[in-house]
Amino acid sequence: MRRKLVVGNWKMHGSHQANAELLAGIRAAGPFGCDLAVCVPFPYLSETAVTLAASDLRWGAQDCSAHAQGAYTGEVSAAMLHEFGCRYVIVGHSERRGYHAEGDQLVADKAKAALAHGITPIVCVGETLAQREAGETDAVVKRQLSAVIHTLGHCAGEMVVAYEPVWAIGTGRTATPEQAQAVHALLRTQLQAATAHADTMTLLYGGSVKPDNASTLFGQPDIDGGLIGGAALKAADFVAICRAA
Ligand code: 13P
Repeated sequence: MRRKLVVGNWKMHGSHQANAELLAGIRAAGPFGCDLAVCVPFPYLSETAVTLAASDLRWGAQDCSAHAQGAYTGEVSAAMLHEFGCRYVIVGHSERRGYHAEGDQLVADKAKAALAHGITPIVCVGETLAQREAGETDAVVKRQLSAVIHTLGHCAGEMVVAYEPVWAIGTGRTATPEQAQAVHALLRTQLQAATAHADTMTLLYGGSVKPDNASTLFGQPDIDGGLIGGAALKAADFVAICRAA
């Protein structure tokens, strides 16, 4: 039985005060029967590490550089994230693929950089609405995952994979549990061909997860938790989703 994981992706939201209130609200509601993490904007990593030092909540970042160090203005390395105690880093989120033209190989290289510093990459894959309507969902997610599997090699079993259909992100239009499970099963089969650890790997679903749909999504056999956007910004909603896991 895989332990569930619920990760809040705060995206570009937050402030000193809002973060303190949100984290206090989540902590006050614990303990939980699942693992929890928050992926916060870079400037808040330091205070998050201090706030959560003595708690069960884990924390991480939303991106990292594929490079170790050097003249890469604006980039943040996995080694730096490690210094702030990051347990996770999201790589390949569709907002980075879309707005920053990140391709499959760059995403794979970022995942590799994270693992090299003991940080678990949460690798996002997912199709656009046009790709789904063209019947390309399976091919798209397989291609995205394949690049990471090949780049990570024998370490592929150490990543977390998040299936986030682009059309479900921030739209209120959640994938049905059946749609999500079908893609998760496909991803797990692909992982089984690559690593002996596929059956214990954590596969998250993301895209308009809310308190009222979380338990049916998390009840699917290959969905091991969620990557939560908007609903991760309200303690009551995030707590309710964690309770459903
Ligand atoms: P929403 O939960 O706001 O749809 O965002 C999902 C997401 O992109 C998490 O990474």
